[in-house]
Amino acid sequence: MNNKVINEKLILDPIGTNITIDKGDINYLFPDVHKVIKVELYCPICKEKRVFKCDDSHNTGYYLNRLGSDRERGIFQEKNELLIYNFSCEFNHKFKMIFETLGNGELIKVGQYPWPRYFSQKINDDIFKILDDNERTYYMLSIKSQDNNLNIASFVYLRRVFESLIAKAIKKSSTDFTGKKVKEQIKQLVKEGLLNEILNNTGYNVLYTLLSDGIHNLTEEQCKEQFDLLKSAIEIILEDEIYKRSLEKRKISIGNLLSNKNSEVKE
Ligand SMILES: [Zn+2]
Repeated sequence: MNNKVINEKLILDPIGTNITIDKGDINYLFPDVHKVIKVELYCPICKEKRVFKCDDSHNTGYYLNRLGSDRERGIFQEKNELLIYNFSCEFNHKFKMIFETLGNGELIKVGQYPWPRYFSQKINDDIFKILDDNERTYYMLSIKSQDNNLNIASFVYLRRVFESLIAKAIKKSSTDFTGKKVKEQIKQLVKEGLLNEILNNTGYNVLYTLLSDGIHNLTEEQCKEQFDLLKSAIEIILEDEIYKRSLEKRKISIGNLLSNKNSEVKE
């Protein structure tokens, strides 16, 4: 909200992110010198956007005690010093972010808890409910891997979720899928209405190809670039399923109400 260096983007960046500080911006690292650091983020506990303030009485305390007021020397010459930021929302939900100095104004984000993604967007509770235990674990591990800059790993877990959705659809079908390639399986399942038609065959095939490529061919950087798109594609399939289930429930409930009325009308 008000800080050139310690801002929303940096908090959402994965562990392992490097930043370089210009000498003129050094005070932005220290809320007691500049002003209170505030960020506006989704609070995973309030489940709403909140303003988080950095608690300046604890922020970077160890570092400042050691180096006194010579902060510039610390940031530009010292290595392996830790800068610790404690944030809390107005309802006292906390998170911690830790940087290590690498010298020459460079810092590396070495820790954050809860993990960055928890503050990036609402982790959809409805999606959680529709996933089974294994899928839920894989879904969260894919997000956690992404937060830790383990980008190929994040693809592996995401593919597990996707494969599980296909396996569940196959169980519901009476078709014999023996010997069929995944692409053919998908085509048949979409045709039978067992796999949501929302992405159509091409969409599913691109999704599956990218997920497999991520595991076998893509670089860490390429997986990082593609992750959000693939995660969103899987979430769209699930959200559509949630919508269909809720529509089905409403149809039954309205149907029942109408048939009750029908008997009243007859009488
Ligand atoms: Zn909160």
